[in-house]
Amino acid sequence: MRIEALCTGDELLTGVTTDTNSTWFQQRLLEHGAQVARTTVVGDVREEILEAIQTLSARAEVVLVSGGLGPTADDLTAEVAARAAGVSLVLHEGALAALRERFAVRGLTVTENNMKQVMVPAGSEVVLNPAGSAPMFILRLGKALLFFVPGVPREYRALVETAVLPRIDALRAERGETGFRVLRLLKTVFLAESHLDARVRPLIALHPRVTFGFRTKFPENHLKLMAEGRTREEAREALEAADAAARPLLGDHLFGVDEDTMAGVVGRQLLARRETLALAESCTGGRIADLLTDVSGASAYFLGSAVAYANDLKERWVSVAHTTLVENGAVSQLVAAEMARGARQIARSTWALSVTGIAGPDGGTPEKPVGTVFIGLDAADGNEARAHRFHGDREWVRSASAYAALDWLRLRTRGTAS
Ligand code: ATP
Ligand code: MG
Repeated sequence: MRIEALCTGDELLTGVTTDTNSTWFQQRLLEHGAQVARTTVVGDVREEILEAIQTLSARAEVVLVSGGLGPTADDLTAEVAARAAGVSLVLHEGALAALRERFAVRGLTVTENNMKQVMVPAGSEVVLNPAGSAPMFILRLGKALLFFVPGVPREYRALVETAVLPRIDALRAERGETGFRVLRLLKTVFLAESHLDARVRPLIALHPRVTFGFRTKFPENHLKLMAEGRTREEAREALEAADAAARPLLGDHLFGVDEDTMAGVVGRQLLARRETLALAESCTGGRIADLLTDVSGASAYFLGSAVAYANDLKERWVSVAHTTLVENGAVSQLVAAEMARGARQIARSTWALSVTGIAGPDGGTPEKPVGTVFIGLDAADGNEARAHRFHGDREWVRSASAYAALDWLRLRTRGTAS
Protein backbone atom coordinates (compact mmCIF):
# COMPACT_ATOMS: atom_id res chain seq x y z
CA MET A 1 0.00 0.00 0.00
CA ARG A 2 1.50 3.29 -1.06
CA ILE A 3 1.41 6.04 1.57
CA GLU A 4 2.33 9.63 0.80
CA ALA A 5 2.37 12.84 2.82
CA LEU A 6 1.60 16.39 1.75
CA CYS A 7 2.51 19.36 3.93
CA THR A 8 1.19 22.82 3.14
CA GLY A 9 2.42 26.17 4.35
CA ASP A 10 4.59 29.00 3.08
CA GLU A 11 6.55 28.86 6.33
CA LEU A 12 7.79 25.37 5.44
CA LEU A 13 9.29 26.65 2.18
CA THR A 14 10.94 29.76 3.56
CA GLY A 15 13.00 28.25 6.35
CA VAL A 16 10.76 29.78 9.01
CA THR A 17 9.38 26.47 10.24
CA THR A 18 11.07 23.08 10.07
CA ASP A 19 8.79 20.29 8.90
CA THR A 20 8.89 18.23 12.08
CA ASN A 21 5.46 16.74 11.39
CA SER A 22 6.84 14.66 8.53
CA THR A 23 9.79 13.19 10.43
CA TRP A 24 7.50 12.32 13.32
CA PHE A 25 4.99 10.64 10.99
CA GLN A 26 7.76 8.74 9.19
CA GLN A 27 9.02 7.36 12.50
CA ARG A 28 5.61 6.39 13.81
CA LEU A 29 4.69 4.76 10.53
CA LEU A 30 7.92 2.79 10.54
CA GLU A 31 7.07 1.52 14.00
CA HIS A 32 3.73 0.38 12.59
CA GLY A 33 5.57 -1.59 9.92
CA ALA A 34 4.93 0.75 7.00
CA GLN A 35 6.83 3.50 5.28
CA VAL A 36 6.16 6.84 3.61
CA ALA A 37 6.84 6.57 -0.12
CA ARG A 38 7.18 10.30 -0.66
CA THR A 39 6.69 13.58 1.17
CA THR A 40 5.68 16.69 -0.74
CA VAL A 41 5.78 20.26 0.57
CA VAL A 42 3.84 23.10 -1.06
CA GLY A 43 3.15 26.72 -0.16
CA ASP A 44 -0.21 28.33 0.58
CA VAL A 45 -1.07 28.57 -3.10
CA ARG A 46 -4.39 27.18 -4.45
CA GLU A 47 -2.96 25.81 -7.71
CA GLU A 48 0.00 24.16 -5.98
CA ILE A 49 -2.19 22.48 -3.36
CA LEU A 50 -4.74 21.35 -5.96
CA GLU A 51 -2.11 19.92 -8.29
CA ALA A 52 -0.44 18.08 -5.39
CA ILE A 53 -3.71 16.61 -4.14
CA GLN A 54 -4.57 15.39 -7.64
CA THR A 55 -1.14 13.91 -8.31
CA LEU A 56 -0.81 12.19 -4.95
CA SER A 57 -4.32 10.75 -4.92
CA ALA A 58 -3.75 9.31 -8.40
CA ARG A 59 -0.76 7.23 -7.32
CA ALA A 60 -1.14 6.53 -3.57
CA GLU A 61 -3.72 4.62 -1.55
CA VAL A 62 -3.27 6.82 1.52
CA VAL A 63 -2.42 10.52 1.57
CA LEU A 64 -1.85 12.45 4.78
CA VAL A 65 -2.36 16.18 4.20
CA SER A 66 -1.37 18.62 6.93
CA GLY A 67 -1.79 22.36 7.47
CA GLY A 68 -4.03 25.11 6.18
CA LEU A 69 -7.18 24.18 8.11
CA GLY A 70 -7.23 27.30 10.24
CA PRO A 71 -9.44 30.40 10.17
CA THR A 72 -7.12 32.77 8.32
CA ALA A 73 -7.11 33.80 4.65
CA ASP A 74 -4.01 31.73 3.88
CA ASP A 75 -5.73 28.56 5.09
CA LEU A 76 -6.89 27.08 1.79
CA THR A 77 -6.78 23.33 2.24
CA ALA A 78 -10.47 22.56 2.84
CA GLU A 79 -11.56 24.76 -0.04
CA VAL A 80 -9.08 23.14 -2.42
CA ALA A 81 -9.96 19.63 -1.22
CA ALA A 82 -13.61 20.31 -2.00
CA ARG A 83 -12.66 21.52 -5.45
CA ALA A 84 -10.58 18.40 -6.09
CA ALA A 85 -13.53 16.23 -5.09
CA GLY A 86 -15.99 18.34 -7.11
CA VAL A 87 -18.16 19.03 -4.06
CA SER A 88 -19.04 22.10 -2.04
CA LEU A 89 -18.02 23.02 1.49
CA VAL A 90 -20.67 22.33 4.10
CA LEU A 91 -20.96 23.33 7.72
CA HIS A 92 -20.36 20.46 10.14
CA GLU A 93 -22.76 20.85 13.06
CA GLY A 94 -20.81 18.63 15.45
CA ALA A 95 -17.60 20.54 14.84
CA LEU A 96 -19.44 23.85 15.30
CA ALA A 97 -20.89 22.70 18.63
CA ALA A 98 -17.42 21.63 19.77
CA LEU A 99 -15.99 24.96 18.65
CA ARG A 100 -18.65 26.94 20.54
CA GLU A 101 -18.03 24.92 23.69
CA ARG A 102 -14.27 25.34 23.37
CA PHE A 103 -14.65 29.10 23.04
CA ALA A 104 -17.21 29.36 25.84
CA VAL A 105 -14.82 27.65 28.26
CA ARG A 106 -12.20 30.25 27.37
CA GLY A 107 -14.66 33.16 27.51
CA LEU A 108 -14.30 33.88 23.78
CA THR A 109 -17.00 34.55 21.21
CA VAL A 110 -17.05 32.71 17.90
CA THR A 111 -16.24 35.11 15.06
CA GLU A 112 -17.21 34.93 11.41
CA ASN A 113 -13.84 33.59 10.28
CA ASN A 114 -13.93 30.85 12.93
CA MET A 115 -16.92 29.43 11.04
CA LYS A 116 -14.55 28.70 8.21
CA GLN A 117 -12.78 26.09 10.33
CA VAL A 118 -15.89 23.96 10.63
CA MET A 119 -16.63 23.93 6.89
CA VAL A 120 -15.63 20.61 5.35
CA PRO A 121 -16.04 19.08 1.87
CA ALA A 122 -19.49 17.53 1.48
CA GLY A 123 -19.42 13.77 1.95
CA SER A 124 -16.27 13.68 4.04
CA GLU A 125 -15.98 11.94 7.37
CA VAL A 126 -15.19 14.30 10.24
CA VAL A 127 -13.09 13.53 13.31
CA LEU A 128 -13.25 16.14 16.07
CA ASN A 129 -9.98 17.68 17.20
CA PRO A 130 -9.32 17.13 20.93
CA ALA A 131 -6.56 19.75 20.98
CA GLY A 132 -7.81 22.53 18.70
CA SER A 133 -10.78 24.01 16.89
CA ALA A 134 -10.27 22.81 13.30
CA PRO A 135 -11.54 19.22 12.91
CA MET A 136 -9.83 16.69 10.69
CA PHE A 137 -11.71 15.21 7.76
CA ILE A 138 -11.31 12.13 5.61
CA LEU A 139 -12.10 12.18 1.93
CA ARG A 140 -12.03 9.54 -0.77
CA LEU A 141 -10.66 10.57 -4.15
CA GLY A 142 -10.64 7.69 -6.65
CA LYS A 143 -8.82 4.80 -4.99
CA ALA A 144 -7.07 7.07 -2.52
CA LEU A 145 -8.10 7.85 1.04
CA LEU A 146 -7.02 11.34 2.08
CA PHE A 147 -6.62 12.41 5.70
CA PHE A 148 -6.65 16.17 6.28
CA VAL A 149 -5.20 17.24 9.63
CA PRO A 150 -4.19 20.62 11.12
CA GLY A 151 -0.53 21.60 10.92
CA VAL A 152 -0.02 22.60 14.56
CA PRO A 153 2.27 19.79 15.76
CA ARG A 154 0.36 19.10 18.99
CA GLU A 155 -2.95 18.74 17.13
CA TYR A 156 -1.32 16.92 14.23
CA ARG A 157 0.23 14.29 16.47
CA ALA A 158 -2.90 13.76 18.55
CA LEU A 159 -5.04 13.20 15.46
CA VAL A 160 -2.54 11.11 13.50
CA GLU A 161 -2.01 8.91 16.54
CA THR A 162 -5.69 8.34 17.36
CA ALA A 163 -7.43 8.62 13.99
CA VAL A 164 -4.94 8.08 11.16
CA LEU A 165 -2.53 5.34 12.24
CA PRO A 166 -5.31 2.97 13.40
CA ARG A 167 -7.03 3.36 10.01
CA ILE A 168 -3.77 2.73 8.17
CA ASP A 169 -3.22 -0.38 10.31
CA ALA A 170 -6.72 -1.60 9.42
CA LEU A 171 -6.25 -0.95 5.70
CA ARG A 172 -2.95 -2.78 5.69
CA ALA A 173 -4.46 -5.67 7.62
CA GLU A 174 -7.26 -5.95 5.02
CA ARG A 175 -4.60 -6.32 2.37
CA GLY A 176 -2.63 -8.85 4.39
CA GLU A 177 0.13 -6.31 4.84
CA THR A 178 0.37 -6.76 8.58
CA GLY A 179 3.76 -6.15 10.02
CA PHE A 180 5.37 -4.64 13.05
CA ARG A 181 8.76 -3.13 13.59
CA VAL A 182 10.66 -2.55 16.77
CA LEU A 183 13.88 -0.61 17.03
CA ARG A 184 16.83 -0.49 19.39
CA LEU A 185 20.05 1.46 19.42
CA LEU A 186 23.11 -0.17 20.95
CA LYS A 187 25.51 2.66 21.72
CA THR A 188 29.25 2.12 21.69
CA VAL A 189 32.18 4.42 22.33
CA PHE A 190 35.71 4.34 20.90
CA LEU A 191 34.83 1.60 18.44
CA ALA A 192 35.41 2.78 14.88
CA GLU A 193 32.49 2.31 12.50
CA SER A 194 34.45 -0.07 10.28
CA HIS A 195 35.33 -2.21 13.31
CA LEU A 196 31.77 -2.17 14.55
CA ASP A 197 30.61 -3.25 11.11
CA ALA A 198 33.20 -6.04 10.95
CA ARG A 199 32.23 -7.38 14.37
CA VAL A 200 28.52 -7.40 13.62
CA ARG A 201 28.66 -8.62 10.01
CA PRO A 202 28.45 -12.36 10.86
CA LEU A 203 25.08 -11.74 12.57
CA ILE A 204 23.34 -10.38 9.50
CA ALA A 205 22.75 -13.75 7.85
CA LEU A 206 21.71 -15.32 11.16
CA HIS A 207 18.98 -12.75 11.87
CA PRO A 208 16.98 -12.34 8.67
CA ARG A 209 14.15 -10.45 10.41
CA VAL A 210 16.55 -7.79 11.64
CA THR A 211 18.09 -4.92 9.71
CA PHE A 212 21.47 -3.80 11.02
CA GLY A 213 22.23 -0.12 10.58
CA PHE A 214 25.01 2.17 11.74
CA ARG A 215 25.05 5.73 12.97
CA THR A 216 28.02 7.84 13.96
CA LYS A 217 28.00 10.58 16.58
CA PHE A 218 31.68 10.98 17.35
CA PRO A 219 33.11 9.44 19.49
CA GLU A 220 30.03 7.25 19.70
CA ASN A 221 29.00 4.70 17.14
CA HIS A 222 25.53 3.26 17.30
CA LEU A 223 24.31 -0.05 16.05
CA LYS A 224 20.68 0.26 15.04
CA LEU A 225 18.64 -2.93 15.15
CA MET A 226 15.29 -2.90 13.40
CA ALA A 227 13.30 -6.11 13.70
CA GLU A 228 10.21 -6.96 11.68
CA GLY A 229 7.51 -9.47 12.42
CA ARG A 230 3.90 -10.30 11.59
CA THR A 231 3.01 -9.60 15.20
CA ARG A 232 4.56 -7.26 17.75
CA GLU A 233 5.71 -10.28 19.77
CA GLU A 234 7.41 -11.83 16.77
CA ALA A 235 9.26 -8.58 16.05
CA ARG A 236 10.22 -8.20 19.69
CA GLU A 237 11.54 -11.77 19.88
CA ALA A 238 13.67 -11.23 16.79
CA LEU A 239 14.99 -7.99 18.27
CA GLU A 240 15.92 -9.59 21.59
CA ALA A 241 17.71 -12.44 19.81
CA ALA A 242 19.80 -10.04 17.72
CA ASP A 243 20.45 -7.85 20.77
CA ALA A 244 21.66 -10.84 22.79
CA ALA A 245 23.95 -11.94 19.95
CA ALA A 246 25.36 -8.46 19.36
CA ARG A 247 26.19 -7.48 22.94
CA PRO A 248 29.12 -9.88 23.46
CA LEU A 249 30.64 -8.68 20.18
CA LEU A 250 30.60 -5.08 21.36
CA GLY A 251 32.20 -5.86 24.71
CA ASP A 252 33.18 -2.96 26.95
CA HIS A 253 32.58 -0.51 24.13
CA LEU A 254 28.83 -0.86 24.69
CA PHE A 255 27.80 1.83 27.15
CA GLY A 256 24.06 2.14 26.71
CA VAL A 257 20.88 1.71 24.68
CA ASP A 258 18.29 3.97 23.06
CA GLU A 259 18.06 7.24 25.03
CA ASP A 260 21.08 6.55 27.25
CA THR A 261 23.94 9.05 27.24
CA MET A 262 27.51 8.46 28.44
CA ALA A 263 27.18 11.06 31.20
CA GLY A 264 23.75 9.71 32.12
CA VAL A 265 25.08 6.17 32.49
CA VAL A 266 28.00 7.32 34.66
CA GLY A 267 25.58 9.36 36.76
CA ARG A 268 23.20 6.43 37.18
CA GLN A 269 26.05 4.22 38.35
CA LEU A 270 27.34 6.81 40.82
CA LEU A 271 23.84 7.34 42.15
CA ALA A 272 23.33 3.62 42.66
CA ARG A 273 26.61 3.44 44.59
CA ARG A 274 25.87 6.67 46.49
CA GLU A 275 29.20 8.10 45.36
CA THR A 276 30.29 11.54 44.19
CA LEU A 277 32.55 13.00 41.52
CA ALA A 278 34.70 16.12 41.18
CA LEU A 279 36.74 17.27 38.18
CA ALA A 280 39.84 19.24 37.32
CA GLU A 281 39.69 20.13 33.64
CA SER A 282 42.33 21.83 31.57
CA CYS A 283 42.07 21.21 27.83
CA THR A 284 38.40 20.15 28.00
CA GLY A 285 37.58 23.55 29.49
CA GLY A 286 34.56 22.33 31.44
CA ARG A 287 33.17 20.04 28.79
CA ILE A 288 32.95 17.04 31.12
CA ALA A 289 31.04 19.17 33.60
CA ASP A 290 28.78 20.30 30.78
CA LEU A 291 28.04 16.71 29.73
CA LEU A 292 27.35 15.69 33.32
CA THR A 293 25.07 18.63 34.06
CA ASP A 294 23.05 18.02 30.90
CA VAL A 295 21.46 15.25 32.95
CA SER A 296 18.78 16.44 35.33
CA GLY A 297 19.45 15.40 38.90
CA ALA A 298 23.25 15.53 38.42
CA SER A 299 23.64 17.50 41.65
CA ALA A 300 23.07 14.25 43.55
CA TYR A 301 26.51 12.95 42.53
CA PHE A 302 28.40 15.71 40.70
CA LEU A 303 30.11 18.19 43.04
CA GLY A 304 31.91 20.49 40.61
CA SER A 305 34.77 21.12 38.25
CA ALA A 306 37.87 23.29 38.51
CA VAL A 307 38.61 24.54 35.02
CA ALA A 308 42.28 25.17 35.75
CA TYR A 309 43.81 26.32 32.51
CA ALA A 310 46.74 28.40 33.76
CA ASN A 311 49.62 26.70 35.58
CA ASP A 312 49.17 29.05 38.49
CA LEU A 313 45.58 27.91 38.98
CA LYS A 314 46.56 24.27 38.68
CA GLU A 315 48.73 24.98 41.75
CA ARG A 316 46.28 27.14 43.67
CA TRP A 317 42.99 25.43 42.86
CA VAL A 318 43.90 21.76 42.71
CA SER A 319 47.21 21.69 44.58
CA VAL A 320 49.56 20.63 41.79
CA ALA A 321 53.15 21.06 43.07
CA HIS A 322 55.14 23.86 41.44
CA THR A 323 58.10 21.50 40.90
CA THR A 324 55.86 18.92 39.17
CA LEU A 325 54.77 21.56 36.67
CA VAL A 326 58.30 22.89 36.11
CA GLU A 327 59.90 19.48 35.74
CA ASN A 328 57.23 17.78 33.60
CA GLY A 329 55.28 20.54 31.92
CA ALA A 330 51.54 21.10 32.38
CA VAL A 331 50.71 18.38 29.85
CA SER A 332 52.12 15.36 31.63
CA GLN A 333 51.12 12.21 33.40
CA LEU A 334 52.26 13.46 36.79
CA VAL A 335 50.35 16.72 36.52
CA ALA A 336 47.18 14.84 35.54
CA ALA A 337 47.62 12.56 38.54
CA GLU A 338 48.13 15.50 40.92
CA MET A 339 45.18 17.42 39.46
CA ALA A 340 42.89 14.48 40.18
CA ARG A 341 44.28 14.04 43.68
CA GLY A 342 43.94 17.74 44.44
CA ALA A 343 40.39 17.92 43.09
CA ARG A 344 39.27 14.97 45.17
CA GLN A 345 40.86 16.34 48.34
CA ILE A 346 39.31 19.77 47.95
CA ALA A 347 35.88 18.46 46.94
CA ARG A 348 35.93 15.51 49.37
CA SER A 349 34.40 13.40 46.63
CA THR A 350 34.55 9.63 46.15
CA TRP A 351 36.13 10.09 42.73
CA ALA A 352 37.94 12.78 40.80
CA LEU A 353 38.83 12.88 37.12
CA SER A 354 41.33 15.24 35.54
CA VAL A 355 42.33 16.12 31.99
CA THR A 356 45.35 17.96 30.65
CA GLY A 357 46.37 17.88 27.02
CA ILE A 358 47.14 19.60 23.74
CA ALA A 359 43.94 20.09 21.74
CA GLY A 360 45.67 21.94 18.89
CA PRO A 361 45.95 23.09 16.23
CA ASP A 362 48.93 24.89 17.85
CA GLY A 363 51.06 23.94 20.82
CA GLY A 364 52.31 20.55 19.68
CA THR A 365 55.97 19.52 19.96
CA PRO A 366 57.78 16.42 18.61
CA GLU A 367 57.64 14.84 22.10
CA LYS A 368 54.08 15.96 22.79
CA PRO A 369 52.25 16.27 19.48
CA VAL A 370 48.75 17.71 19.14
CA GLY A 371 46.29 15.19 20.52
CA THR A 372 48.48 14.20 23.48
CA VAL A 373 46.17 14.01 26.47
CA PHE A 374 46.67 12.75 30.01
CA ILE A 375 43.71 11.70 32.09
CA GLY A 376 43.88 11.20 35.83
CA LEU A 377 41.61 9.27 38.16
CA ASP A 378 41.78 9.50 41.91
CA ALA A 379 39.95 7.46 44.50
CA ALA A 380 40.51 6.27 48.05
CA ASP A 381 42.20 3.13 46.77
CA GLY A 382 44.67 4.80 44.45
CA ASN A 383 45.74 7.45 42.01
CA GLU A 384 46.47 6.82 38.37
CA ALA A 385 46.99 8.77 35.15
CA ARG A 386 46.95 7.46 31.59
CA ALA A 387 48.43 8.79 28.39
CA HIS A 388 46.24 9.07 25.27
CA ARG A 389 46.92 10.16 21.75
CA PHE A 390 43.81 11.35 19.90
CA HIS A 391 43.73 12.19 16.22
CA GLY A 392 41.58 14.87 14.63
CA ASP A 393 40.89 18.56 14.98
CA ARG A 394 40.55 20.57 18.19
CA GLU A 395 36.87 19.70 18.56
CA TRP A 396 37.54 15.97 18.21
CA VAL A 397 40.45 15.96 20.64
CA ARG A 398 38.40 17.80 23.28
CA SER A 399 35.37 15.61 22.75
CA ALA A 400 37.39 12.38 22.78
CA SER A 401 39.17 13.52 25.96
CA ALA A 402 35.90 14.19 27.76
CA TYR A 403 34.48 10.82 26.70
CA ALA A 404 37.68 8.95 27.60
CA ALA A 405 37.55 10.39 31.11
CA LEU A 406 33.89 9.53 31.61
CA ASP A 407 34.34 6.10 30.06
CA TRP A 408 37.15 5.27 32.45
CA LEU A 409 34.92 6.08 35.41
CA ARG A 410 32.03 4.20 33.79
CA LEU A 411 34.11 1.02 33.69
CA ARG A 412 35.37 1.55 37.24
CA THR A 413 31.88 2.07 38.70
CA ARG A 414 30.05 -0.79 37.03
CA GLY A 415 28.28 -3.05 39.47
CA THR A 416 27.86 -2.24 43.15
CA ALA A 417 30.33 -0.44 45.36
CA SER A 418 32.86 -2.64 47.12
P1 ATP B 1 -4.23 26.82 12.42
O1 ATP B 1 -5.63 26.52 12.83
O2 ATP B 1 -3.35 27.10 13.61
O3 ATP B 1 -4.09 27.86 11.35
P2 ATP B 1 -3.54 24.98 10.31
O4 ATP B 1 -4.05 23.62 10.11
O5 ATP B 1 -4.06 26.04 9.41
O6 ATP B 1 -3.72 25.40 11.81
P3 ATP B 1 -1.01 25.90 9.58
O7 ATP B 1 -1.62 27.27 9.57
O8 ATP B 1 -0.49 25.38 8.31
O9 ATP B 1 -2.01 24.85 10.17
O10 ATP B 1 0.11 25.83 10.67
C1 ATP B 1 -0.15 26.10 12.03
C2 ATP B 1 1.13 26.09 12.83
O11 ATP B 1 1.73 24.80 12.76
C3 ATP B 1 2.17 27.05 12.32
O12 ATP B 1 2.86 27.62 13.43
C4 ATP B 1 3.08 26.21 11.52
O13 ATP B 1 4.38 26.75 11.50
C5 ATP B 1 3.03 24.88 12.22
N1 ATP B 1 3.23 23.81 11.23
C6 ATP B 1 2.53 23.63 10.11
N2 ATP B 1 2.99 22.58 9.41
C7 ATP B 1 4.02 22.08 10.10
C8 ATP B 1 4.92 20.99 9.89
N3 ATP B 1 4.82 20.21 8.83
N4 ATP B 1 5.87 20.78 10.82
C9 ATP B 1 5.96 21.57 11.91
N5 ATP B 1 5.15 22.60 12.18
C10 ATP B 1 4.18 22.87 11.29
MG1 MG C 1 -3.23 28.22 9.57
